[in-house]
Amino acid sequence: MDDMSTQPWAWDEQTWRSKVEHVRAGRSMKPAKWKNGARCAVALSFDSDHETNELRDGGKSIGRMSQGQYGNRQGVPRILDALAKYGAKATFFVPAVAALLYEDEQRRVVAEGHEIGIHGWIHELNSQLPYEIERDLMFRAADTLERITGVRPVGLRTPSWDFSPSTLRIERELGLLYDSSLMADDDPYELLERGEPTGIVELPVEWIRDDAVYFNMHRFTGLRPHTPPAAVYDIFYREFERAYEEGGLFLLTMHPHVTGYRSRIWILEKLLEEIARRPDVWVATHAEIAAFVKAECP
Ligand SMILES: [Zn+2]
Repeated sequence: MDDMSTQPWAWDEQTWRSKVEHVRAGRSMKPAKWKNGARCAVALSFDSDHETNELRDGGKSIGRMSQGQYGNRQGVPRILDALAKYGAKATFFVPAVAALLYEDEQRRVVAEGHEIGIHGWIHELNSQLPYEIERDLMFRAADTLERITGVRPVGLRTPSWDFSPSTLRIERELGLLYDSSLMADDDPYELLERGEPTGIVELPVEWIRDDAVYFNMHRFTGLRPHTPPAAVYDIFYREFERAYEEGGLFLLTMHPHVTGYRSRIWILEKLLEEIARRPDVWVATHAEIAAFVKAECP
């Protein structure tokens, strides 16, 4: 590490401004009204990582890979059943390797009206990769999902929300409609690259609205679930309730191998029930929401 990167207090203004301005939130793309006059939009996403969380870390633990397989055997079917019960459409972000392991799962997801978005090749961390490798993996991931499902993906969620200095450039080269990995707002906004509007819609995530933060467990580190399911439901519900009051977007990230359990799936089911009680909520895929705000906020 050179002095320039290890001594931020010594940077000149141009250096710190340049870092901040590389990728930035531009104009808000929160529409006055959502589709069909709806007051609020709901974007539910499920990151079907399955075994790739362990493969990304070296693939040494057969136990952790079996947890990943649970995501396919129990998690995704329970989630799809809950969505079908309430007629809700959602987005599944799937690493290409997970899609190759479970091609039928992806085809069922698409056949039931849901969207599949890009989630890396093998859940790699983009910020560890040079531009050429990140670009190759992203393009191959898009091609793989298209070959399996018959639908070209239009959105990306970076694995672990690890957005590298090259990610936005590659998203533009891929011609994507939206990204869903950054956190500058509650509501959709346009991504700027060095101050230039990119036309790419950001559908913002937050760790607050991610089940993994509350529930993940790792035997050999200190990682444990500290938040009971009822408290997690309360946080998610309050995020939805306030989005409804403000006429904004409620975007939630869940994982089949985290929420798909008998003691947790009710969180999703109860949220869907609360959402369905309000007729003026538009539940849609990320692609539908990004396309709508882009048309509404030209
Ligand atoms: Zn993931």
